[in-house]
Order: sequence, then C-alpha cells, then structure tokens
Amino acid sequence: MNNIVAIVGRPNVGKSTLYNRLIGERQAIIDDISGVTRDRQYGSSFWNGKTFTVIDTGGFVKGSDDIFEAAIRDQVNIAIDEAAVIIFMVDVTTGITDLDEEIADMLRRTEKPVLLAVNKVDNAERQMEANEFWGLGFEETFFLSSMTGSGSGELLDLVVEKLPEEEEPEPNQLPKIAILGQPNVGKSSFTNALLGEERNIVTDIAGTTRDSIHSKYSKFGKEFLLIDTAGLRKKSKVHENLEFYSVMRAIKAVEEADVCIIMIDAQTGIESQDMNILRLAQRRNKGIVLLVNKWDLLEKETNTARDMEQEMRKKIAPFNDVPILFISVLEKQRIFQAIDAALQVHENRERKIKTSELNEFMLEAIERRPPPAYRGRLIKIKFVTQLPTYYPAFAFFCNHPKHIREPYKNYLENQLRKKFDFTGVPIGIFFRQK
Ligand code: GDP
Ligand code: GDP
Repeated sequence: MNNIVAIVGRPNVGKSTLYNRLIGERQAIIDDISGVTRDRQYGSSFWNGKTFTVIDTGGFVKGSDDIFEAAIRDQVNIAIDEAAVIIFMVDVTTGITDLDEEIADMLRRTEKPVLLAVNKVDNAERQMEANEFWGLGFEETFFLSSMTGSGSGELLDLVVEKLPEEEEPEPNQLPKIAILGQPNVGKSSFTNALLGEERNIVTDIAGTTRDSIHSKYSKFGKEFLLIDTAGLRKKSKVHENLEFYSVMRAIKAVEEADVCIIMIDAQTGIESQDMNILRLAQRRNKGIVLLVNKWDLLEKETNTARDMEQEMRKKIAPFNDVPILFISVLEKQRIFQAIDAALQVHENRERKIKTSELNEFMLEAIERRPPPAYRGRLIKIKFVTQLPTYYPAFAFFCNHPKHIREPYKNYLENQLRKKFDFTGVPIGIFFRQK
C-alpha cells in the first residue's frame, strides 16, 4: 500500500508552510523531547481516520538557481512515479509563471490524482485573482491560505479520499522485512550476507506494488521476504535529487513492510534521519528492530554496549520497547540473531490474546490502579478486547471514554507489555463507550 502525498511546486509558493500544518505540532513536540532536531522533509499526518505520509519536495533542493529548474522538473517526475497523490502548489501573488506552466504540463500527463493548491489566498480580493488558475486546467483546484489554514480542510478531505483504502494483509503471507538506514551504514552488505549468491528476486507477489523488489530468504527453516531499498537505485538525472529519491524509496519500503530493520552506524549513534524513519515506522504501526552496525570499528570497554543501549533507549522514548542489537556485518557478528529478532517481532505483531486471558489480567491491573476520577465522576472500565486489526490494538470499554488521560493510557500499555510480549511493536489503545 502506498500512502505517500507529495507536495510539488516552485520555491516560495508555500510548500513547507503547508507541510508544517499537515504534520502538526504533535510530532514536533515528541521529537523535542528526544532532543533530536527533525529534518523538515517528511512526516506522517492524520485526517478523517486515515494516516498518510507527506513529503515536502522543497526541503530537498539546495543549490544555485540554474540547477533549480532542472531539479524541480526531476522531482516532479519522481513524485509522479512514487507518490499516491500529488499536491501541486502555486502562488496567487505571482500569478501563473512559466515554471508553473511547465510543471502543469508534466502533471497533466499522469493518471495519478493531482490536486492544484492555489496558495496565499488570504482574503476576498485574492480569491478573485485566484480564478486565473482555473486556466491551468485542473479539475481539482483549491484556494487556500497555508498561513491561516483556511481552505486546507477541503483540500485534505479530497487528499484522503484519493488515497488507497487500508487493505487487510492476506493470511499466510511471508513476513515482509525492510532494511533501512542512511547511505553507507551497511544495508547492501547485510542483504548480501543474508542472501549471498542465492539471491532470488520475487516481483510477482499478490498485494505488492509492481515496482518494488522483493528477495525471498529461505534458509535454516526460516522464510521471509526482504524489501530492497539499497539495491534498486534507478539513477535520478539530477545529483541533488539522489537524497529525495532514496527517501522516497525508504518511505515506500516502510509502507510495505511488516517489520522495519533500521541500521544505525555505531560510530555516530542515532541521528535525526534515523529518528525520522523510526517515527514513521512507529506511526504506521510497523514492527521495529534497531541494528547498530560496524561494531567492529568501535574501541570497546566493558560497558560500552550497555551504555550505548541505554542512551539509545532514552533517545527513542517513549516507545523504546524494541530490540537493539550490536552487529558487524563485516565480521558476520550476530547477523542471524538480527534476523531472529526481526522474525520474533513479526510474531509479536501478529499475536492475538484470548479475551478471557486479557480481561483476567487487565481488569485486575485496573482494579489495582483505577483511572483517576473526572470532576468527581468515577471512571469504570468494564471490559477489554483485542481488535481485529493487522497490528495489536485494544479497545477498553468504559463509561466516560473521553476523560481518560494520556498517563493512564501509558499505564495500560505498560501493563500489556509487561504481561504479553509486544517487544518491537507499536500497540494501539482505544477507549469506547460501553
Ligand atoms: P516553499 O519554498 O514553497 O516551501 O515556501 P515556504 O513555505 O517557505 O513559504 C514561502 C513564503 O511564503 C514564506 O515567507 C511564507 O511565510 C509565505 N507564505 C506561505 N504560505 C502563505 C500564505 O498562505 N499566505 C501568505 N500571505 N504567505 C504565505
Ligand atoms: P549501504 O549504502 O547502506 O548499502 O552500505 P554498504 O553495504 O554499501 O556499506 C558501506 C561500506 O561500509 C562498505 O565499504 C562496507 O564494506 C562497509 N561496512 C558494512 N558493514 C560493515 C561492518 O560491519 N564493519 C565495517 N568495518 N564496515 C562495514
């Protein structure tokens, strides 16, 4: 499934302003706590019950003005290939420019949904001027002000309507594992160490997108599909866009995967790009394993691994119940443990708890520490059930679902994690009216 929404357009039309509005403050706050600054390029957004990934193409082009136009054209092509929905942004204050016309020509040729967003329509007078943009010929044209947010709701309504429906994975499919990480962290080396000569590329698998490359691993009684992010590198014409292209592929791999292996360089530790991928995988409810690679290059003392692991857990909190392994692909150290960890996480993600067992344990935990009363009203949780979702999610039925606060939700999640093995798996907790 591909839930990528790309915002394209020339510089200064307001792409990153809209992007920031879509990503919202929540994510920014989470990442401030971890002390890692987030690159403003992609993140996940939620509207009308759908989660999707927004990518701000403008965040990628740095360089002189003459490279700009070629780079932008190239980005539009990548967006056409890789995104599910494209938001084409233009600026009412400049009117239609030559570059707008060019981009429009490219976008008119795609079958993918393209929504024209005429930005900076801050007042009624500009509303009149904005009518000019109907001339670009896009049926879906929206007038908005990214600065104030006016008009952005209507745009989003249509964006999520155009996104594919969340599909239930077909039963008895092989686990899909993506290997992610920054350039040079060792992704290809790891893939080669696993698959070696027997690399067997499978492309015709039901439910996968046509352009992804899956290799089947089948050794020592274990079977899974590896989703390639390193191997397939369709060269982008413009050097500046290599990063954009590889980020796009990484996002797609996350979307398709059941479990994301995120490789981190032992010499640098977790960096902001690693946090971005981690948050994305977490918000898309994927299983997660962290591999710290190139362990052979580190000068180690007795507690190096323990200290580093602690520091990493602090950084990725609050969701830090994930396997962290220190490996060396070069020296073939703990490679197979890494795979076992990923398969275990997949098993955890598929885990279904019997309702009776769930209630027996959770209702006791709730009795031991009941939810705090809200304005003198007692909150009573009567019943818990696991939802039939493709990741672990639980509904707690109670009398005042809206009045249960975050800390209590965290308490319930911790209790669940203590009793049942959900290591590496984001879990959903919902409160419903009884
Ligand atoms: P990008 O280069 O396309 O990402 O554009 P930015 O988001 O950086 O915005 C360029 C400039 O336009 C900034 O000074 C923004 O504050 C301004 N801007 C963005 N959206 C609006 C809007 O809706 N109304 C007005 N008046 N200005 C806006
Ligand atoms: P990718 O860009 O993530 O696919 O990274 P590569 O697999 O191409 O690896 C980048 C470089 O790191 C290569 O020179 C590898 O030989 C090297 N490398 C990979 N794993 C290790 C490791 O565990 N230890 C050391 N010392 N080097 C490694």
